[in-house]
Amino acid sequence: MILNPLSNQVGGHDGVLSMGDDNEIIVKPALPQELKFYEESVLHAELAAWMPTYYGTLTLTRSMPGQPGDDQSAPTIKALNGYALSDMMAASTLDQQDGANAAAASIAETDVVADEAEENGVNDDECICLENVSLGFKKPCVLDLKMGTQLFDDDASEEKKARLGAVAANTTTLPLGFRMTGFEVYDSEKGDFTKYSKHYGKGLTEDTVLDGFRNYFAAKLGPERMRLIIERFVNDLTDFLATIENQELRMRSSSLLMIYEGDSEAFDAGVAIEQEKIGAIVARAQAHMEKSAREDNEDEDEDEDEEGEENDEDFEDYDEDDEEDGEVGQKVTDMRLIDFAHSTWTPGQGPDEGVVKGVKSALALFEKLLQEDYPFD
Ligand code: ADP
Ligand code: MN
Repeated sequence: MILNPLSNQVGGHDGVLSMGDDNEIIVKPALPQELKFYEESVLHAELAAWMPTYYGTLTLTRSMPGQPGDDQSAPTIKALNGYALSDMMAASTLDQQDGANAAAASIAETDVVADEAEENGVNDDECICLENVSLGFKKPCVLDLKMGTQLFDDDASEEKKARLGAVAANTTTLPLGFRMTGFEVYDSEKGDFTKYSKHYGKGLTEDTVLDGFRNYFAAKLGPERMRLIIERFVNDLTDFLATIENQELRMRSSSLLMIYEGDSEAFDAGVAIEQEKIGAIVARAQAHMEKSAREDNEDEDEDEDEEGEENDEDFEDYDEDDEEDGEVGQKVTDMRLIDFAHSTWTPGQGPDEGVVKGVKSALALFEKLLQEDYPFD
């Protein structure tokens, strides 16, 4: 199985990889705190619904110098841990050549892994395996929105607190509760993505951050599609707000990963698929109601009370046609919460007010964009 550097990574450390025939699995150096957060997320289903599916871990190993195959830059997959993951991997042979080299080049640049390797003197890199949220998009326009007003763990060093405290105060993090970390937008005329770095995001202020969003929503899709995209994110943010207002956790430097389709044909195909699904659900519900009504009439004289059971059959007939073999269909938009290297569950301590603030600010700005004429510049 080939490991590739993730093609549309917009933020964070270099070294995020993907694997699988469609690069459907994200492979990311695992920090203990993030691993713990994912493992414990099964107890918090409402929040977990916003997270990428967690498949398990795998260990990449580097061969020792002086031994056969001692190329330091070529890690191989040493171990898998995770039911879903081993299942997926079983179908493929582990090809450890080109992909492993790409992995090595990429992992070597990751401070996290380098630090850990130095501390422990080991040649193994433990990685976390996640659903690739950008799967299902032809030209994914990805935005990493770093949430919250505080970027460091409570037990961080004084030096780190001072440094990241200053970053928060000098960016939109402190005043708005979020910062645009990085994003990329598909330009159909150019046939390529326009990329905005973390430096761009750090340079935005309360007064200019709306320009940042105008630049993110700049794919040449026309006013109707763009309005639909922003409306969907408004809906997502509204639902997400309701979720985190009830979750007791602290998220430091976690991100909302927003993605919309930047190719207009693929976009329309995604909308059509959704409408078909909704149509099928409505038709089934109608058929179900009509059937119940007919049966009520027929049964009027009978006193037997067996509601429920008899009608459940209608629902068993339903297949999620396109999703049978786990294939991801064309998406229109998606929004997930990622990056839990500094997140902890904190029962009894109430919601993360900094993240709540960030979601509310983003919502207000998106609502403002909806009042503007497209294109937004
Ligand atoms: P870091 O700790 O280095 O910031 P992140 O988890 O934030 O790591 O990931 C860095 C980048 O990788 C993100 O900005 C995003 O572009 C990409 N990424 C991470 N996880 C996923 C995922 N599950 N699906 C798609 N892209 C992802
Ligand atoms: Mn990140």
